Amino acid sequence: MTTSIPFPPSSTALVDPKDFDFFKVVQDNTDRATKLFRIEPFVKTILSQPKNELIVNFPVRMDNGDIRLFKGYRVQHNNVLGPFKGGMRFHPQLALDDVKALAALMTWKCALVRLPFGGAKGGIKFDPHDVSRSELQRITRRFTHSLADNIGPETDIPAPDVGTNAQVMAWMMDTYSNMVASAQKQSVRGVVTGKPAASGGTLGRTKGPGQGAVFCALEWAREHGLDLDGTQLIIQGFGAVGSHTAAILARLGVATIAVGDHTGYLHNPEGFNAHKLQDWVQTHGNIAGYPGGKAITREEFFATKADLFAPCALENQVGELEAKALQVKLVIEGANGALTPPADQILHERGIDVLPDILANAGGVIVSYFEWVQNKRSEIWEEEDVDARLEVAIKRAYREVSDQARQKKCDMRLAAIGIAMQRIDAVYKERDIFP
Ligand code: GLU
Repeated sequence: MTTSIPFPPSSTALVDPKDFDFFKVVQDNTDRATKLFRIEPFVKTILSQPKNELIVNFPVRMDNGDIRLFKGYRVQHNNVLGPFKGGMRFHPQLALDDVKALAALMTWKCALVRLPFGGAKGGIKFDPHDVSRSELQRITRRFTHSLADNIGPETDIPAPDVGTNAQVMAWMMDTYSNMVASAQKQSVRGVVTGKPAASGGTLGRTKGPGQGAVFCALEWAREHGLDLDGTQLIIQGFGAVGSHTAAILARLGVATIAVGDHTGYLHNPEGFNAHKLQDWVQTHGNIAGYPGGKAITREEFFATKADLFAPCALENQVGELEAKALQVKLVIEGANGALTPPADQILHERGIDVLPDILANAGGVIVSYFEWVQNKRSEIWEEEDVDARLEVAIKRAYREVSDQARQKKCDMRLAAIGIAMQRIDAVYKERDIFP
């Protein structure tokens, strides 16, 4: 198992980061879906803010003996459908409002794909590449310790996100299991998902978001009478989501002809070898210096003619200029919040479909759910079984989103949020609120 941390690029967008308020973007999209899908006003009010916002400051002894204070977050957005669920992000620019936005997206994502989970997100504001492996372990363990009263297999279940991986999840699970009575140790494995297979993880989790994105793209292509074999892809971000998306698409005959990350952009009209590029990024941390591609500018990358574009880096990467420049048929939003609202509008007007984040990357949390179920039942599923179940779940979600978008004459993002909100709305109407 690798210990290197896939770490998508920091913002290199032409979009001015100052104009991007991620939480407001999520709120605005939610408001529009609320109107279109006639969600009860009281449900909208409840969902407009997270249920709990936890901030922890905790000290860690660094390798040189100094004590450094870290700031960690866990935002628990909603749990009406089940335990809070969502990733842990280690990133130097992490801020509470972004975590709130990402937590709300998890609530919509889990509801959209019919998982018995609510939504959460968390993380620590620091650069995981700036610390040693043992420091990373101590930071992770101390953070888990600080949150231990608020997480658990039936309470709130963290998973990997930007800057974290299976190794980090193994440390979180181990720390948590050392804080419960020894008779309970085995029953709390499901406190986190995305663990290494040997520590109770599931097969197929690492590639889950990429595999899910490809299943969605296949269903979109079937609906549009397009054979993906022989088509071309441009992709931004070659971390956990992007690299698996490109590698799985390559097996279906899709050539990745341009790729970019925070270090730059490369073009190869013959198509990159996705597996070799994946190995390169595992070793070097980014695509810089990869032989077999010609350097191009960011503007040239976005204007490259292809069939598919997958933004798999970070939020706020595709704004107005990028949306106007794109020469593709479909955008697969692998990264949460990659597109800004003006980009959504321009692409909709231009007739370019967008598979929105909460659908396109839902393969991650769907496979997390499979891991949680296996942990509960002490089962180990075959990878083919995981993939087959993922295919059923995500293709069904795709068809529901596509049908609603057609019926309501809206883009797929609004349709996806609307479907998710309707499911939550139905539960609140049945249960009402306490007291
Ligand atoms: N961090 C991933 C996401 O944004 C996965 C979350 C999970 O598996 O709980 O969907």
